[in-house]
Amino acid sequence: SFLIATTYIVTVMLTTSLIGGSVIFEEYLFIVIVTLLVAAAFNPLRNRIQKVVDEAIFSARVNFRDILRSLSDRLRAALSPDEVFRNLVDGLSLHTEASFITAFVNTRGTFRRTASWGDSPAKEFFLPNSLLTGLANVKALARNNAVAGRRNDESFEHEEWLGRIGADLVLPLRTEAKEVLGIVLVGGPSSGQRFDEDEFELLVEVCSIASEVLERLILQERIFLENEEKRRLEELGQLKTFFVSSVSHELRMPLTSIRMFAETLRRHQTIGKKKQREYLEIIEGESERLARLIENVLDFSKVERGVKEYNFADTKPGIVAQKAVKAMSYQFENAHAKLRVSTPRRLPRIHADADAIEEVLINLLSNALKYSTTTKDVSLKVRSNGSQVLFEVKDKGVGIPESEHGKIFEAFYRVRDGQLAQVGGAGLGLALVKHIVEAHSGTISFTSTVGKGSTFTISLPVSK
Ligand code: ADP
Repeated sequence: SFLIATTYIVTVMLTTSLIGGSVIFEEYLFIVIVTLLVAAAFNPLRNRIQKVVDEAIFSARVNFRDILRSLSDRLRAALSPDEVFRNLVDGLSLHTEASFITAFVNTRGTFRRTASWGDSPAKEFFLPNSLLTGLANVKALARNNAVAGRRNDESFEHEEWLGRIGADLVLPLRTEAKEVLGIVLVGGPSSGQRFDEDEFELLVEVCSIASEVLERLILQERIFLENEEKRRLEELGQLKTFFVSSVSHELRMPLTSIRMFAETLRRHQTIGKKKQREYLEIIEGESERLARLIENVLDFSKVERGVKEYNFADTKPGIVAQKAVKAMSYQFENAHAKLRVSTPRRLPRIHADADAIEEVLINLLSNALKYSTTTKDVSLKVRSNGSQVLFEVKDKGVGIPESEHGKIFEAFYRVRDGQLAQVGGAGLGLALVKHIVEAHSGTISFTSTVGKGSTFTISLPVSK
């Protein structure tokens, strides 16, 4: 109306000025306003009249449009490809006479059933290439006489294939670029009649809407996965940097001591026997610490590759505990830390790999020492409750914040606390400990309070 009114004014003005008359602007403005008002008032009336006429004369069409709208709304509301397939099959089953409707998703050439109504003919099948290309270029393929008033005489291949699979119609779900995302197989009307034109059109239209929605959802999914992959790679990169810096730190400290004391021994040959012994002990202790770190990394890689092996045998828990304590004694002395050990004389044996359990205890004792900054007081208690032997490593150190409790057993995970930045480690100790304990059918648990300390308890079943 606005366009017509504008054209009208311009034409009148031009003509008037061409023939030399004068334009009475207000007069025309009045006409235009009246025209617009009449048009505005008439429009709802026109709509209502059309609706009445439609319903009276073309009721099937109105019905068709309503169904299409409701099915389309249902499809567009889907949040995942699976939901689209389900809504598509459910919706079509309500509004057609089909004996079955089955949707298949295309997974690299194999069509897998995802949603079905009625007696579905197949669960999974492979489509010949020629048929797939054919499907990518049509809205639907039907068997002869499956749809009233339609004859298909272009291809006999699909006719034969449809007959074999027991369906009357196949509708592709394809992208704009003609990639077939899935197909819908439809069985003829149960009464043995044909599909009418409207039903066929409904099937085609609904599948075309479903294709659109599927394409959008799959694209969204791909973008999401790509972003997720990017985020994971970034995280991995960060973890790698953090791992390298933590491990270098852990390696540098003992190496510095070893070099320093070896150099002192070489330069000052007149050094007393007692001092010499002390320095050599330090070198030995620091090399052991280095070896342990390297062993942790190597062992962890064995666990990751699934090639870590255990030599199970009846083992005395007290002896394993003592060995671990001995291995850690240098480190405790060096840090002027207290290490109290209590093992009852009579303890049941465990069926275990003694070296692996020693490694577990060394890791726990090493953590207890590393994460004790002010009060360096650690205890190791071994006891039994009849069916299990419990090893308890307790410290009065910094403790672990509650928010980190779920993560400390993850490989490479380290609590990022500014105060502990100087404490080296690869974040592998507890991951390895957990793996070893579980391989022994045991459990590991801990309690910890920030500022007060932590207690790690391992329980291993006694030998039968
Ligand atoms: P690492 O000690 O090499 O960092 P772990 O896997 O042994 O790796 O431990 C993971 C994290 O758990 C450590 O970074 C530390 O923050 C925390 N943790 C482990 N044991 C203790 C403990 N006894 N006290 C406080 N924090 C601990």
